[in-house]
Amino acid sequence: MPSPKRSLLISAGLVALVAGLSGSQLAAGATAVPGEAPPPGPGVRGVVLAVHGGAGSLPRGSLTPEQERAYRDGLTKALRTGYELVKDGKPALDAVERAVNVLEDDPNFNAGKGAVFNTDAEHELDASIMNGKDRRSGAVAGVHHTKNPISLARLVMEKSPHVFMAGKGADDFALRNGVPFTPQDYFWTQRRWDQLMAAKGNPPAAAGAKAGRSEAGGTVGAIALDGERGIAAATSTGGLTNKQVGRVGDSPVVGAGTYADNRTVAVSCTGTGEVFIRGVAAHDISALMEYARMPVTKAAATVVNQKIPALGATGGAIALDARGTLAAPHSTKGIINGYVTRDGEIKTRLYDDETPPE
Ligand code: ASP
Repeated sequence: MPSPKRSLLISAGLVALVAGLSGSQLAAGATAVPGEAPPPGPGVRGVVLAVHGGAGSLPRGSLTPEQERAYRDGLTKALRTGYELVKDGKPALDAVERAVNVLEDDPNFNAGKGAVFNTDAEHELDASIMNGKDRRSGAVAGVHHTKNPISLARLVMEKSPHVFMAGKGADDFALRNGVPFTPQDYFWTQRRWDQLMAAKGNPPAAAGAKAGRSEAGGTVGAIALDGERGIAAATSTGGLTNKQVGRVGDSPVVGAGTYADNRTVAVSCTGTGEVFIRGVAAHDISALMEYARMPVTKAAATVVNQKIPALGATGGAIALDARGTLAAPHSTKGIINGYVTRDGEIKTRLYDDETPPE
């Protein structure tokens, strides 16, 4: 039983959440004013696949034209790959896995090749995938030698009696299932190395990196809707720069970083993983839709822009309902993302001002 004082704090937090107060207002002890949160944006309609490349901030002018092209090309390739599958009548699960594979193979993103370094200058990779039709899921954490962790997560789901495998056991399971061994060197990139050095207090001349979350986190995710009204979600990441060895974020935690249920929504989150785990963020979006009958835009904005900041962190999510409405709220300045509509129209959004915060 919580103490009376704790109960009071809990109720104050809930009232503030309903009233739409931000975390900083909460921290400053602002009085909760009953009322509705500002209405979220309308979302994007007719979407069959969306991807993200991490929450953070990418102001205009922060990329060279070549870098901008590389990011947009990477997102576009992932969207095209998934779209072709959905168009061919393949399940949403295939589309999210393959879209994430493309981003895992792209050194610009913090997943697979290009993953960040932990405090021991190693890469430990996390991923999870979930199928909305039967709510089966698979997840891996702290893998060292698997090129495409999202495909290993799917293998765990389909070829083992388990949902979540970690560390050496997960890498061994990959080998036993014919997944080739990938040396750690494969994941190395200069940019992530510079970010590690900066986080350890040795900034290289050209680097602007900080400890923890970088300018744009780089975690990747995909959500898709197939011709059978099935939805699926997938998330893959190297985690946070300079994370402690063994640290696991939200991305491989089903219900926190990833969730899919055909009755509600497919979600992939990005942000400070510790808080997304405590907020059970992805499932909370689904729960608001299931129990409070909120539309996806309102449910996703409530969790990302109110609940998570109230718990002390920032981030973003992409969420797609079974009618094809996409929400991409973020309490960071921006979220790298893109989507493709039913008729094949692709849009990529990199800069902070390209995706509305709600
Ligand atoms: N959520 C990821 C983690 O905490 C990081 C990110 O999305 O940037 O591992």
